[in-house]
Amino acid sequence: MTDPAFAARIAAELQGLRDAGAYKGEQVITGMQGARIRLADGRELINLCSNNYLGLASDARLLDAAAAALRSHGLGLASVRFICGTQDLHKQLEARIAAFVGTEDAVLYAAAFDANGGLFEPLLDEADAVISDELNHASIIDGIRLCKARRWRYRHDDMDDLRRCLQEARAGGARTVLVFTDGVFSMDGRIAQLAEMRRLCDEHGALLGVDDCHATGVIGPHGRGTAAHCGVFGRVDLVTGTFGKALGGASGGFTACSRPVAELLRQRSRPYLFSNTLAPPLVGAALAALDLLERSDAAVRRVQAHAARFRAALQAQGHTLIGSGHPIVPVLLGDEHAAKALAQQLHHAGVHAVAFSYPVVPRGRARIRTQLSAAHTDADLDEAVAAFAAAG
Ligand SMILES: *Cc1c(COP(=O)(O)O)cnc(C)c1O
Repeated sequence: MTDPAFAARIAAELQGLRDAGAYKGEQVITGMQGARIRLADGRELINLCSNNYLGLASDARLLDAAAAALRSHGLGLASVRFICGTQDLHKQLEARIAAFVGTEDAVLYAAAFDANGGLFEPLLDEADAVISDELNHASIIDGIRLCKARRWRYRHDDMDDLRRCLQEARAGGARTVLVFTDGVFSMDGRIAQLAEMRRLCDEHGALLGVDDCHATGVIGPHGRGTAAHCGVFGRVDLVTGTFGKALGGASGGFTACSRPVAELLRQRSRPYLFSNTLAPPLVGAALAALDLLERSDAAVRRVQAHAARFRAALQAQGHTLIGSGHPIVPVLLGDEHAAKALAQQLHHAGVHAVAFSYPVVPRGRARIRTQLSAAHTDADLDEAVAAFAAAG
């Protein structure tokens, strides 16, 4: 590097991450995402840590749909949407995902990170207020930082504290008030109390927005998400989500909302305006995922049944579990080293599960986060449960 001081600073920062045990390694896998993954050394592990909730990442029907769209609509558009990058497939997917999550329209993005990054700034300015759960996803936090609205943060999942924020924002004279939450908090497997949030928002004339990345395709009838799960389907103002988790695991995101809001986002949302169109094969695969889910919720029920069975088995072993009602099943260890050690023992026993510790989760709340998939067989689950027992 041309600046030795800069090089030294980067090296020191990397060393700091290693010393703090916060350095993230990457497990290289050599095949498709699935219930089991193959490592470079040929070993096969039961996979308990992907967001491939419905097992669609390697599903032949999605692969075929992606291949068909690749052949009929090409690799990509080499354009943003408003110049020369909108195909019939994009319009179809926007209409289909909007109907699926209960809104009038939707806007596609390269990723849900971009959907959140481009959501707040076009809709809110200094006259407005945004109220956010303290554990919201990084992309929501970044998106809110990019807008000029006044900000409030409520204690995680604490409805009394949310009410306080709503009252303060209203007392402060805010024009529009938007409450925004993760639908499912992925470190805890906890589902937001959307019915109660809707009630509080109505009471204070506030909009409600939900990032449903871990919920679309996972919870609610046919996987329609947190609003459907909580009985407020069609009554959430903004829903952001991803095609990179349950709905095929490829990539792409969306903001689902009213028709006028979608229209304004197409005019003003910077990640939409200044980034390439979603690639046609990804759009084809996402459409196929929606076809499957609308036709049958067998995979949704299967992953939920897996989660219930796995929870019961680990609880019977004496583990402390967090969350409920979701295929994210976090096993709380507390101590950072204990969590790391258990993850290593599981790895030796043939199970891939990752330990999360501070700063990803609060200090002293280290955990192994497991995630079930409809792709798992009953035998996979039995083997995983046995590995936990052996590692115990
Ligand atoms: C995964 C995730 C995202 C990012 O989704 P991408 O489509 O991969 O960018 C955003 N928000 C939440 C809550 C997520 O879990």
